[in-house]
Order: sequence, then structure tokens, then C-alpha cells
Amino acid sequence: MPELPEVETIRRQLRSEIIDQTVVEVGSHESEKFMPARKIKGRRFTELTRRGKYLIAECDGRAELIVHLGMTGQLLVHHGKQDSTMLDQYWRAWWSLDNGKTVVFRDVRRFGRIAVVDKGDYSQIPTLRDMGPEPFSDELTGDEVWRRTRGRRRRIKTQLLSQRLIAGVGNIYADETLFLARINPSLRSISRPQAQRLLEALRTVLSEAIERGGTTLRDYRNLEGEGSNQHHLKCYGRGGQLCFVCSSTLRSRIIDARTTTWCPQCQAR
Ligand SMILES: [Zn+2]
Repeated sequence: MPELPEVETIRRQLRSEIIDQTVVEVGSHESEKFMPARKIKGRRFTELTRRGKYLIAECDGRAELIVHLGMTGQLLVHHGKQDSTMLDQYWRAWWSLDNGKTVVFRDVRRFGRIAVVDKGDYSQIPTLRDMGPEPFSDELTGDEVWRRTRGRRRRIKTQLLSQRLIAGVGNIYADETLFLARINPSLRSISRPQAQRLLEALRTVLSEAIERGGTTLRDYRNLEGEGSNQHHLKCYGRGGQLCFVCSSTLRSRIIDARTTTWCPQCQAR
């Protein structure tokens, strides 16, 4: 599933293609999840931002087009008006712009979602409404992370995945971050120094992944093709293999419905 680095990579690449462009034609799949794509016909894109794993295209008239890529969503740019060569059976929405290009939303498994809202009104999108701070926010400190984890009874891995502790983290970067921070994923409370390490590790892991264009394991593509961070994973998906730090065998088990990998030595409880 695309996480913060993948969505941020797409944002940076897509921004210059759509900014100041007006949507001249639109199309969408007949599903309620994708029909809102049609609402921005005639609007001009003024900015492309990101919040957690959500892309937010600001439009004139105080409207926002919100795209969540779900499990398998992709945004592609077709260098021409909409035509039959552009769309395969998995397209869900498209927007033709007055620069002659068309942005296509393709989503094989259809867990993606498109919404159009008044600027800043996320009442219909609870995950976005209740989202925790951005990991690179200047205001976010280790102490603040520690404070936000206090009194929570869920495991630290689960808290990371919830989006409420910190925005944008999914299974890949949760495992990578906890490994780098040497924190056991099953802990239900963490110390102040651990919270400091967690935030530092998270920023390292995310910024390296953004530099590499994201992690391509299955469906994720950015506008230029595959990312390369999959060649640098130290923990995620490596259960049964040797730890690069201490040579112990990495363990893997399901924690709260998600496969979790950790090093029993480096991340001892
Ligand atoms: Zn180790």
C-alpha cells in the first residue's frame, strides 16, 4: 500500500503537471467511490498538497479534490486528450487539462477513494479529520510523541498504523522505523528516550524512501516508474533472514492483523 513516501513522491512529480491548469473534461467509473471526480469539471488547480497518505488538490472556488490511493491506486499522466489508448479495464477516473494532458486514476483492487470537499472540511473523511501531526512538522518533538503515546493501551506498532499518533505510516515504514529505533513492536508504552529515537528513526526512514522514489513491491508506480527503496529494506518482509546489525534471525508474526517483523536481539522487550 502506498504510504507517505510514495504519496509524497507522486505529489512532487504531479504538481508541476497540474498546477494552474483547468479541468476541461472529466470521466469516472460509475461507482460512488469515484463519481465525485466529476465534480471539479471547469475548476483550476491552484496547489497540490499532502496530508498523511492523502493527496489534496486545491482548486479555485475553495474546493479540494482528495485522492487516497488505497492498496493499488496509481496516478498516471497521459500526454494527450482522453482517448481509448489511455484507459485499460482498471481506470477509475480521469481529468483532461487545458495543457492537453490527462491525469488518470487507475486502481486494480478498488480500495482507493476520491472525494471533493469544501476547503478544509474533512467531516466526511474521519481518518483525515482525526489525523495526527505530520512527521516532518517543525512542531513535532520526541516529547510530543511520548506525550501522545501515554495512556494508550494499544501496541506501539498498532498506534503507528492508526494515523492518529503520527500521519502517513503504514506497515512497511512502521517495521523499518521500529527496527532502526530498536523498539519492540509489541510494547504498549514507550519511554521518553524511546519516543525521541522513534521520531528520529521515522524521519530517517521516510526521507531516505522519498529520495529513492518510494518502495515498489507490487503495484506502486510513481510518474517515472518504480521506486528503488525496496532494495534497501532492513526489516520489513525479512522474517527468517539474518539481522544486518547483529546476525540474529529476524522474527515475524501477526500483530493486530498485520504481519510484523522484528529482531529479537536489537528490539528485545
Ligand atoms: Zn539485530
